[in-house]
Amino acid sequence: LSQLFRPLDLLGMVYRTVRQGVIDMGAMFDLIDTEATVKDAAGAPPLAIARSAVRFEDVRFGYGDGREILQGLTLDIPAGATVAVVGPSGAGKSTLARLLYRFWDVTGGRITIDGQDIAKVTQTSLRAAIGIVPQDTVLFNDTIGYNIAYGREGAGPDDIANAARGAAIMPFIDRLPDGFDTRVGERGLKLSGGEKQRVAIARTLVKDPPILILDEATSALDSRTEAEILATLEAIEQGRTTIVIAHRLSTIVHADRIVVLDGGRVAEQGTHAELLAMGGLYAEMWARQQAERRSAEETLPL
Ligand code: ADP
Ligand code: MG
Repeated sequence: LSQLFRPLDLLGMVYRTVRQGVIDMGAMFDLIDTEATVKDAAGAPPLAIARSAVRFEDVRFGYGDGREILQGLTLDIPAGATVAVVGPSGAGKSTLARLLYRFWDVTGGRITIDGQDIAKVTQTSLRAAIGIVPQDTVLFNDTIGYNIAYGREGAGPDDIANAARGAAIMPFIDRLPDGFDTRVGERGLKLSGGEKQRVAIARTLVKDPPILILDEATSALDSRTEAEILATLEAIEQGRTTIVIAHRLSTIVHADRIVVLDGGRVAEQGTHAELLAMGGLYAEMWARQQAERRSAEETLPL
């Protein structure tokens, strides 16, 4: 069952649910709609999206186990820009995404979208504005059409087809025995990692959110498939405020700005060239990954 939560990265919510002693798996499923812990403020208005500028202001956060994951993080993601967030595993990159989607509330500071504190607007309106493409997309045991339509309630056949085209998965669907009605997932057709990520991208295109989060969206793919998917992702980043969380630095060289997270704070930020010139953490990570790539290439069979 945990798999079903992963498309939305609901891990945090599941974790809390278990801690609260709710062990009935069916009840956990209902939580997607009921939102036990994060509550709308009384009379909260919907988020009024203008330009979709996102700002983390001195944000503090821990998961309640006494450890502070974010220790005063300030981060500006200008409207329409692509900002990459990198840093060691466990630095809190995915936590940033969860906080923006408001799976959890910050314990200090605030997060704003177009100047509005996200804790003071309705969760429905907030989440309608944000699309997430996760690292591993897990599909529902249903048709491929359903899996794409899942991005937005009331999506029609045209929306689904347009999204499939935008995600460059149409040629694949055209080859399926029943097209969009082909069943996929554990009890149906098995899709490759790249095909699954294209379904996730199509899902996001159906949603058409002004704010986009790509959380290591290509890190589970082989490098050729990764390159293909990256091209599609760069296209859908256009016109949206985008946070790209990445492990492989070669995938975010194009970002307007790269932010290095370390010790719960922004350790460095700048363009790829600026960060390399700085000769700090980023430059170190870059050098290490380049060396790893070279040695991987050397061991490739000819
Ligand atoms: P990253 O994405 O940078 O690898 P995460 O944001 O996923 O890191 O996690 C940051 C830290 O918070 C890690 O030490 C992780 O173990 C911890 N963490 C993540 N999710 C939870 C959770 N639901 N409960 C408790 N600790 C968590
Ligand atoms: Mg992560």
